[in-house]
Amino acid sequence: MTSKKFNLIILGSAGAGKGTQARLLAEKYKMKVIEMGELVRMAAKQKNEKGRLIAWMHKAGMHFPDNFIEELFDQKIKKTDLSRRLLIDGYPRTAGQAWDLERILKKYYSSRPHLALWIKINDQEAIQRLLNRAICSKCGQIFLKRNIKKCPVCGGQVKVRDYDQDKKSIKKRLTWFHQHVIPAIEFYRRRKNLIIINGEQKPEKVFQEIIRKIEKKL
Ligand SMILES: [Zn+2]
Repeated sequence: MTSKKFNLIILGSAGAGKGTQARLLAEKYKMKVIEMGELVRMAAKQKNEKGRLIAWMHKAGMHFPDNFIEELFDQKIKKTDLSRRLLIDGYPRTAGQAWDLERILKKYYSSRPHLALWIKINDQEAIQRLLNRAICSKCGQIFLKRNIKKCPVCGGQVKVRDYDQDKKSIKKRLTWFHQHVIPAIEFYRRRKNLIIINGEQKPEKVFQEIIRKIEKKL
């Protein structure tokens, strides 16, 4: 295994299995994970007007301005141990954010390289997976069947997430991905630090492919 320091950006449409791979990678490379969705949820809990506005926008499924997201990320990095490798999940979501992120990474990590990982699945597969999956409300484990009620890992309650319920909201997320996230992915392709992974394999195969390609790229 490489001893090099690097940061990793994990990209992929909803249902691609980013969360699962992020957990495995964080363990293998001892990475600090920053999950943008979590930062937004925490910001939404602030007991002030800003927090209420964020909560309202989040609930309505609105997208946040790039500079707001950048500020959240910057504040988080400031409190992070910079000697550790970083894994970024859920950011960038637009090409503009890819520029912002690059600027922040340069500011805090000067010359440390970063790689962008795209776990690629087709839309049909994404829709199928999202319509079938359920998630443990306690440990976050994802199940690809909806008939499981109790988590075999931690005993928590397994639930279907609201936004995975209907096809319309799933399609809306996939449309966002094609219109906005793909341009961000192109940004990394041009930087020659993009790694594309076939996400339509079993999670352990996906993980093996990721490790192999990361080690080769470093
Ligand atoms: Zn669980």
